[in-house]
Amino acid sequence: MPDATFATPDVTTFCRLDELGLVVVGQHLQPDRAVLACRVADDAVEEADRWCRRCGCEGRPRDTVTRRLAHEPLGWRPTTLLLTIRRYRCTGCGHVWRQDTSRAAGPRAKLTRTALRWALVGLVRQHLSVARLAEALAVSWTTANSAVLAEGRRVLLDDPARFDNVQVIGVDEHVVRHEALLFRMEVRDLRRFAVAAAG
Ligand SMILES: [Zn+2]
Repeated sequence: MPDATFATPDVTTFCRLDELGLVVVGQHLQPDRAVLACRVADDAVEEADRWCRRCGCEGRPRDTVTRRLAHEPLGWRPTTLLLTIRRYRCTGCGHVWRQDTSRAAGPRAKLTRTALRWALVGLVRQHLSVARLAEALAVSWTTANSAVLAEGRRVLLDDPARFDNVQVIGVDEHVVRHEALLFRMEVRDLRRFAVAAAG
């Protein structure tokens, strides 16, 4: 690529964490896992975070909490985020709240939005088993399974236009969980590789 323009190497953008409003502040690399310490990026800090939603008074930084999130694996090595989140206390009523991290992950989610999409693509297009997804994300089978099912339902099944322009439909049945002999049937739009229905 003789015409390529190279930017300064940057873990945050390489891991696409800028898209989630996060910035990497540290890394802990092991042969079988990478842990990235992150915080909310300055330009992603919401002005609304500083004001109490109960009384409207200003909040003061109180302390921090950490949230652990599975991110998309890089080179099949699980990449886990250790996200430090600032908590504020209202100077008026004493209410305590934390920085908004909804760009990075849904409430109580254990996977980043990027990891959810990675897992869904892995399941639908690469035919990876949930066990393999869970291994690559370093989460439990149950965590991976429930996250992927919820995301699949949100992205594909809740889309009322999913049958628009469908030209070829294929039905695929594969073993989701070998030990339980649990089968999953998918009806796919073969042109877009999208699951139109699953059961
Ligand atoms: Zn208040």
